[in-house]
Amino acid sequence: MEGRPHEAVDKGPIASNSRPNYFRSALQNGEFVYTAEVVLGRDHNAGEAEKFVKEASGHPEGIKVISLTDLPGGNPALPPEAFASYVFEHNLTPIAHLSGKDGNRSFLEGRLHALARIGVENILALTGDAGNEGFAGKPKPVHDLDSVLILYLLRSLRGSVLGESEPKVACTPFDFFAGAVVNPYKVREPDLLMQLYKLQLKVAAGAQFIITQIGYNLRKLYELKQYMAREGMGHLPLLANVYVPTAKIARMMQSGKLAGCIVTEEFIRSLEGKKKPQRLERAALMVAAVEDLGFSGAHIGGFGLSHADFMTILERASAIGKDWRGRMDELIFTYPNEFYLLPLGQDGFSDATGDYQTTRTKPHPSFVQRMSESIYCHAIQDGSLGARFFGTRLKSQATTGSWRHRLWRTLLAPSTFYRKAALGCISCGDCMQDHLNYVGCTMRGCFKELRNGPCGGSRVDGTCEDRPEQPCIWNQIYLGALAVGDDPKKFAHILIPARDWSLDRTNALVNRFAGLDNAGKRIDFAKITKDDNSC
Ligand code: SF4
Repeated sequence: MEGRPHEAVDKGPIASNSRPNYFRSALQNGEFVYTAEVVLGRDHNAGEAEKFVKEASGHPEGIKVISLTDLPGGNPALPPEAFASYVFEHNLTPIAHLSGKDGNRSFLEGRLHALARIGVENILALTGDAGNEGFAGKPKPVHDLDSVLILYLLRSLRGSVLGESEPKVACTPFDFFAGAVVNPYKVREPDLLMQLYKLQLKVAAGAQFIITQIGYNLRKLYELKQYMAREGMGHLPLLANVYVPTAKIARMMQSGKLAGCIVTEEFIRSLEGKKKPQRLERAALMVAAVEDLGFSGAHIGGFGLSHADFMTILERASAIGKDWRGRMDELIFTYPNEFYLLPLGQDGFSDATGDYQTTRTKPHPSFVQRMSESIYCHAIQDGSLGARFFGTRLKSQATTGSWRHRLWRTLLAPSTFYRKAALGCISCGDCMQDHLNYVGCTMRGCFKELRNGPCGGSRVDGTCEDRPEQPCIWNQIYLGALAVGDDPKKFAHILIPARDWSLDRTNALVNRFAGLDNAGKRIDFAKITKDDNSC
């Protein structure tokens, strides 16, 4: 364990409750950090988790950062805020996962206040898996805030003012250290590019460290690192997820039961018949590789692993050191015709100096797309005839309910029929179809009703995590943007605010002209406006 960071003590910023934050300070000091993912189950008696924490605390060179899951796999479970104090009591540092799938924005904010109150700075923001069976059946999905919007909420809580509208709400600032997840293992171009764009949006929204999804293709991790460096994110701490699966768990990942994990048949075969020491050795190899490649840390997990197993991984990784390069065949498992962002280099990795291999062919726009784009350009977007005519009339009378206001609303009523018939509109009243190039409504077409890019859960063939019979709509949106000559990279820098539920079941076009919807509240982190698009 010589040269490893475990002896380090906190030198980082002091949170408002004066608890040391080893995780943040070690990353700031450039140390390679190990985190252990401890899965909290459906029981308040977290005996296994307690045992792990006790053992880690008692080991002078043990794991110092405990990452606590938030209702993982879509199952009911003990939340991280119920266990973080136990981690603190054992002089370790918690990372609390916070997923938007089970609670709305108010509940999530309340949970963040609770986490701040017990001194938890490190928050990993997640959209969350689709729900599994809960008490008396499948639970109601919430997904009010996606991971990007949770990061933006965290950013607001770091300051002292909450909310965009007046009167603004003041609260005691808390120095959250916000993390995001990225899935760099996608095998198709739309899935992969949309993941990378969403990562950029997460960083713009406030992510301060990044942890990858589970995967077994080191070339993809290498590409992620190159992409982050090229796109101005190279300064952010990047931790590789090193999960130790059995063949059975890998098979579950492949089947989609563990969402978003890309696992090849060859990788599963490599695990068959392997005992624990061999599986720990493979994990150690990956830890050695990512440390040598300049990652900031390894986020280690695995069903039934003891703290002693973790120490075996760390010790073997230290012994392997730079020799991992002679064992690349154990680290890169690839699909036939898998899409890579960069061309193949000479060392088995991608060529870091190569151009992005994104598609140069333009798909055909659908009839609905062409017609809707044309209507938008000529009648809806700012400065168009329709916007000028209805805007002046509806903006001045948006809340009056006068007969004139009712007349203009009645004239615009047929637009709802068009949106429903052509675009699958559910009348959320806060439309973002122009941003999606009229490919379809994610309030209906995305199981998680996401507004800022895909979750990490799409399957190898590009279908939805929860609805394998249909494509992930965000892949279609990527292709749809290309089809109409737009740049899908806009999804890397334009943040769509959380849906305004006061507009539910109202006419989105009226709301747009009246200035009530999200159009004026979108945040373009690159300062690019819709006006730049050619219509
Ligand atoms: S449609 Fe795509 S982004 Fe939405 S839940 Fe399914 S896989 Fe996730």
